[in-house]
Amino acid sequence: MVGEKGKVYLIDVTNRDGVQTARLGLSKLSKTMINLYLNEMGIYQSEFGFPTTRHEANYLRANLKLQELGVLQPIRLGGWIRATAEDVTRAFYLVPEIKDFNLSISTSQQMIEGKFQGKKSKEDVLVMATEAIDAAKEHGARSVGINAEDASRSDLDFLVEFGLAAKEHGADRLRYCDTLGYDSMQTIYDTCKELAQKVGIPIELHCHNDLGMAAANSVAGAMGVMDGGQDAYINTTINGIGERAGNADLVAVVLALQKAKGVAGEYEFGVPIKLNMAWKICRYASYAFDVPIPINQPGVGANAFAHSSGIHADGVLKDPQNYELYEYEELGRGEPEIVETGREICSGEYSGISGFGHVMGQHEVKFATREEAERVLELARYANVLAQKPLVTDELLFIAKYPDITQQLLTLAPLADIQPVG
Ligand SMILES: [Zn+2]
Repeated sequence: MVGEKGKVYLIDVTNRDGVQTARLGLSKLSKTMINLYLNEMGIYQSEFGFPTTRHEANYLRANLKLQELGVLQPIRLGGWIRATAEDVTRAFYLVPEIKDFNLSISTSQQMIEGKFQGKKSKEDVLVMATEAIDAAKEHGARSVGINAEDASRSDLDFLVEFGLAAKEHGADRLRYCDTLGYDSMQTIYDTCKELAQKVGIPIELHCHNDLGMAAANSVAGAMGVMDGGQDAYINTTINGIGERAGNADLVAVVLALQKAKGVAGEYEFGVPIKLNMAWKICRYASYAFDVPIPINQPGVGANAFAHSSGIHADGVLKDPQNYELYEYEELGRGEPEIVETGREICSGEYSGISGFGHVMGQHEVKFATREEAERVLELARYANVLAQKPLVTDELLFIAKYPDITQQLLTLAPLADIQPVG
């Protein structure tokens, strides 16, 4: 397809980069809710976790079950692991149903010397990466992305060599990681265009925000990839939560692709994105992470559509387009919200059947038997133990609808052996 423009897709990495961030984390139920919302929003893939980590196994398998049931469709659920054949084998041992992967290895001289401490050469990196891809394909992986960690500080000729070797072994995408947020718009555009042309497979953009340019660099890099004739896959996180200064913010990236001068209308989404999910997913992630949304956050911040100065208020009242680039309704804002200011019954880890029945009754959930109600209550208690805050309505409804899956994803079995399915 060289010569034609590629399309852009989104791969959200909140459930991987977001949760590995210092001081932050999510319960397994919260990670599941995020996968459900991302699916509803039209995100191509959720990097849903770490298949070589034991405490992730039940959650990952429960989410793959939801996929099998058609609940988590059409989103793809990708696991992130190191690019070694051993990690691939371990991932399939702990999570036999997994189908999609990203395999990660460092490609910069800094990291090859600084992390491997002289024990590995560039040649070793190529061997490890290709062996890992072979192992994933042999185990029946549907898609494999190969990640060049620290790509922005890597030698471009080596990146091309790395990408071509990965392609030859069947890799579906090359992830260009601006691991330290070092790139700028022109450099990432040029590099990624060249990579798309010379390697000839779709390229992922994984940008960090250390210089405040993660969303801008992601879009610029994706434009380079698409102009280079390949599909681009932008890695995002909800509210930009990620290592250090964070990743490319999901909503900012979508807004830039849909609204920015020179971008909007010039490039096509591979899957249409429902921007009107923005308000819901950002508010949920903020609650789940316990991180407030900044007042000036694009699209979803409290001030994103607020005007007070005389000239602006007057202008926006005459015609919103005077001072607003897009409308709040497009982001799913503007619906009235009911905030309880009087008596409230919340779910908790010590909730009883009467309070629980009251909470569920408010959401018009009825149980066939008392046993069924008690089982769902018990699951809600466990979910509360893990969340350490009241569950939101969607979480309670999910538990009531999928008790077996909830039981699986809430089950942590420390130090116990987890057997693969026969
Ligand atoms: Zn990252």
